[in-house]
Amino acid sequence: MSKKITLTDLARDPGCLAEYDPNAMGYHDAQKWIHQFISPIKETEIIPIKDSLGRILSEDIYSPIDVPNYENSAMDGFVFFQPKENSPKILKVTGSVLAGQISSQEIISGEAIQIMTGGKIPNGGNTVIPIELVTHENNKIVLNETPKIGANIRKVGEDVKKGALILKAGKCIRPSEIGLLASLGLSSIKVYHRLRVAFFSTGDEVVAVGKPIKIGQVYDSNNHTIGAMLKQLGVDTIDLGIVADDRKALKETLLSIADKADVIITSGGVSVGAADFMKEILREIGEVLFWKLSIKPGRPLAYGKISQAHYFGLPGNPVASMVTFYQVVQPHLKTLMGETGYQPPPLFKVKAESLIAKRPGRMEFQRGILFKKNNEWWVRTTGSQGSAILSSMTQANCFIVLDIHLDSVDAGSDVHVQLMEGFV
Ligand code: AMP
Ligand code: MG
Repeated sequence: MSKKITLTDLARDPGCLAEYDPNAMGYHDAQKWIHQFISPIKETEIIPIKDSLGRILSEDIYSPIDVPNYENSAMDGFVFFQPKENSPKILKVTGSVLAGQISSQEIISGEAIQIMTGGKIPNGGNTVIPIELVTHENNKIVLNETPKIGANIRKVGEDVKKGALILKAGKCIRPSEIGLLASLGLSSIKVYHRLRVAFFSTGDEVVAVGKPIKIGQVYDSNNHTIGAMLKQLGVDTIDLGIVADDRKALKETLLSIADKADVIITSGGVSVGAADFMKEILREIGEVLFWKLSIKPGRPLAYGKISQAHYFGLPGNPVASMVTFYQVVQPHLKTLMGETGYQPPPLFKVKAESLIAKRPGRMEFQRGILFKKNNEWWVRTTGSQGSAILSSMTQANCFIVLDIHLDSVDAGSDVHVQLMEGFV
């Protein structure tokens, strides 16, 4: 069991180290709190469906046609008229219809027409028997089974009815949506403009890759993880590189980009260190609407506005900045992009292979490896969970999501995991 934290402890330790901090908001409350300041961007544009993967629809789509627009066969087989009683056993084959052909031949009792999948049902036919269920000899077929009336016939509008609402504004376009739009003959759609997101790293010790590094410096990995996560979301990025821990430079950079970007994301400088200026600057040139979150990693996380731009100040530690991006920022970016009802990837219960250490007071997103053993899914942690250990993110295939009140999880107990693949 973890040590119980008293109010006296807290008064002595108001920084970012305490497991429980009364000034830090719970994850779900924080998400609701930030959400009230977020609404979709206004600008829209019309684009070809071919270029619409990952874009967000900004208008409802009603079908201009029935799909299919003609009654057709779902199988390669024979079409005939199946009466309510006295089903025929033997039929004479009098012709054939391929997909794309229209037969003017009428089907009369005792006769069948060979038909291919997608072929238009000729007048008089009401049932298709698949080729596998008949014995075909000369001009005759013997039916080995009695199909139900209407079997294997695709009805007009069976997939989509003319005039029906098929896609709602706010929907993220995936390959299936592009296919559905194409099946309606629509070649272009109206979508939200791409969100413009500017980002930069802060820190005197942070150096761009490609440059030599001295002892005491770190390469700027956040620029690359944040840039890549933004690319995966399909936003337009404005990469501002690295800005030193210098109030003037930080302020000027923020002000210079505030009217060109919908969102500004920075990493580093939001904690309680001597060179952590971001919150203070935000207060000066905009408004701080949120600061501390009771999650691990990533307690210091600032949200606010600078003119019309939304500002997210992520922690500098590489794992913390990725976790807070995925878990906290991404849902809000999705809303700003115009997507309605975005949900983070679902949680699944699996078994912990060994003890997962935790103290109550913060919700944790540990890095986990999900694996199958004896037909069951299990999870183990990637090892050290330090928020600077970026290799834990590359080893992991899931987050182990541990609720705020949870203590350590024993080996063999159930635990929630969330697939990392779900975030892309
Ligand atoms: P900060 O949040 O600025 O106090 O930084 C916390 C830790 O993260 C420090 O050890 C920084 O050196 C490190 N850090 C900050 N920014 C970056 C970055 N862009 N890339 C890699 N590490 C960083
Ligand atoms: Mg720093």
